[in-house]
Amino acid sequence: MSESESQPKKRFPLTLDFVTGLSGRSKAAPQRTHSTQTATRNATEGTTNTRPATMPAVAAKPQRPSTVAEATSDVPLVSEAVRKAMVRKIAQQGVKDAAVLAAIESVPRHYFLEPGLASQAYVDTALPIGYHQTISKPSIVARMIELLREGVNGKLGRVLEIGTGCGYQAAVLAQVADEVYSIERMRPLHELARSNLRALCIPNLRLHYGDGMLGLPQCGPFDGIILAAAGLDVPQALLDQMALGGRLIAPVGERSQRLKLVVRTKPNEWMADLLEPCHFVPMRPGTFG
Ligand code: SAH
Repeated sequence: MSESESQPKKRFPLTLDFVTGLSGRSKAAPQRTHSTQTATRNATEGTTNTRPATMPAVAAKPQRPSTVAEATSDVPLVSEAVRKAMVRKIAQQGVKDAAVLAAIESVPRHYFLEPGLASQAYVDTALPIGYHQTISKPSIVARMIELLREGVNGKLGRVLEIGTGCGYQAAVLAQVADEVYSIERMRPLHELARSNLRALCIPNLRLHYGDGMLGLPQCGPFDGIILAAAGLDVPQALLDQMALGGRLIAPVGERSQRLKLVVRTKPNEWMADLLEPCHFVPMRPGTFG
């Protein structure tokens, strides 16, 4: 008997498996609540799954959808309502760029989480994705993309993301940029992102496995570069791959981190600003897996 036929007993709060009626998921793991701190601590201590579950079979549609909205049109309105509520909270925190808010709203964050955590997908918090890494908090994703778009009149051409993780931010970026390239150093996460993103069929997004500290010189120069992991400073290779007038946003620091915004003003001149405090997993050199 399939899971939907067997009608498992409902327990509150309901998981997204119940509220969206998504089939093809493995049984939900016990519910836990996560704050940014517990997610990061769990990730650091490796107390969560070391191998994330595969994602729901949402792509079982006759034709390939061409947009995220089309690909997710089968998700019932209840999910729309929780997404909208999260987006309102992000706007209240100061993110003003309507295109970024619309992009956050259109990307189904629960596709990027294991079933046991999917019910927390629209809480503004980082959550574990396995391998001691986390999916970023939606509000910081929105803030960083807004910073990239400021100063280029919202026209983002080619963008590079360092640290694909589960692929969530890459999917959001692809809604507001012409071309997105994203690099991940951990092969299992690169594969996870590939599998998560397959269902969304995003034509302007390319995933690469490799050391993002070296950038992706064969695909540059980039109008925007966004780092999803914190180093002590921004690697020179990434500064060199910025287009003239291009913008880079990165968390920098160790225990105490801040967002750093860099603009390439001349071929050999970059201007940098340190902005608000933030909290990211560390940037590591080389590849794994
Ligand atoms: N972008 C993700 C966040 C991922 S967490 C999101 O959408 O939520 C940061 C990721 O950066 C981790 O998966 C980690 O493995 C990766 N990372 C760390 N150092 C890296 C490097 N040198 N090159 C590429 N990826 C790196």
